[in-house]
Amino acid sequence: MSENTKPEPGFNTRIVHSEYEAPEGFAAFSVGIHHASTVLFDNVATMRERSWLDKSSYTYGLHGTPTSFTLEARLAEIEKGEHCLLTPSGLAAITLVNMAFLQSGDHVLIPDNVYGPSRDQAEWLSRSFGISVSFYDPLIGAGIAALIEERTCLMWVEAPGSVSMEVPDVPAICAVAHARGVLVALDNTWSAGIAFAAFEHGVDIIMQALTKYQSGGSDVLMGAVITRDEALNARLQMAHMRLGFGVGMDDVYLVLRNLPTLQLRFNAHDQSARKIASWLASRPEISKVLHPTLPDCPGHDIWQRDFTGAGGLFSVLFDAKFSEEQTDRFVDSLKLFKLGYSWGGAHSLCIPYRIQHMRTNWPESGILVRFNIGLEDTQDLIADIQQALTMLN
Ligand SMILES: *Cc1c(COP(=O)(O)O)cnc(C)c1O
Repeated sequence: MSENTKPEPGFNTRIVHSEYEAPEGFAAFSVGIHHASTVLFDNVATMRERSWLDKSSYTYGLHGTPTSFTLEARLAEIEKGEHCLLTPSGLAAITLVNMAFLQSGDHVLIPDNVYGPSRDQAEWLSRSFGISVSFYDPLIGAGIAALIEERTCLMWVEAPGSVSMEVPDVPAICAVAHARGVLVALDNTWSAGIAFAAFEHGVDIIMQALTKYQSGGSDVLMGAVITRDEALNARLQMAHMRLGFGVGMDDVYLVLRNLPTLQLRFNAHDQSARKIASWLASRPEISKVLHPTLPDCPGHDIWQRDFTGAGGLFSVLFDAKFSEEQTDRFVDSLKLFKLGYSWGGAHSLCIPYRIQHMRTNWPESGILVRFNIGLEDTQDLIADIQQALTMLN
């Protein structure tokens, strides 16, 4: 072998540098799953020019690939927003908002019926990070004005609360907040972004647990934060980068795959849940059905005014004469309804909550049980509840 002959690359070099080109002339509806940590630059000048903040180009997989940018764009469109950032879970989306807009010394307002882990995070921020937190009555409406302090800079809203279902007056809360320069962030998971037009009702920042309806498969964990305002998005982007919130592209693909049926699934959950909720309202074992479309649900009139749908999640209060032992037996006797957290998938779920331990002031008596109505036939679900009710005694 002469010194001028190019040596054959070794096995490892060849396997690492194997040629791959995307097939030409290939068109399909599905979005390609682009995995990357390393993103390649043609030369140093391009590398230096590119900014990770600019979503028309790519710099590093943690900041996104064409797959995640596509999901972000579609979610922003669903919520009629402009910007979207994906997070590894719904709770991480809550973390992102808190980290982006709160610092030591600030004050945040949180509804007393907020998603449990969000409440726990707020208490942690208060204990360990010098942020002061007040929990407010979710039905407070414009009365929230009295709770705004000098350093209040963020207000959370959940519409409705995902266990006790009170529907807050979002426009009234937003009007007061904006008059005092306070941002309003909404956990809009219950309505999947399709039954409540949050930005049109005054909200500044929308948070979604995509884990629920957007995924629809009871498998993926993911969250999103959506905004209209450039400056708010810029704050969120910096926090997102500093927290290192990446998402897996296979998971992103699963959410993308299920988005086209989002509205159909949501409406099917909604129709079935309304029938089951009305049926439950007629049962003597149930004292209240906490479903926003029914008059027993606090804030029902606000739901009627502001919402265009309801989805599949609601709760009931059993008559106070039934003990926890009895209602646990009811839950354990269900066959089609499975016992587990989360919701928004095809399978019906049922879970009891010790609500009085979750709230500052819980005015009701009777055990609270929450239903997620899946996509099974409604009459089968009613029959299942009916047979389980006979097990109460
Ligand atoms: C599930 C849920 C979350 C959190 O989502 P994860 O992906 O499970 O972290 C936040 N808010 C509400 C209302 C939820 O139901």
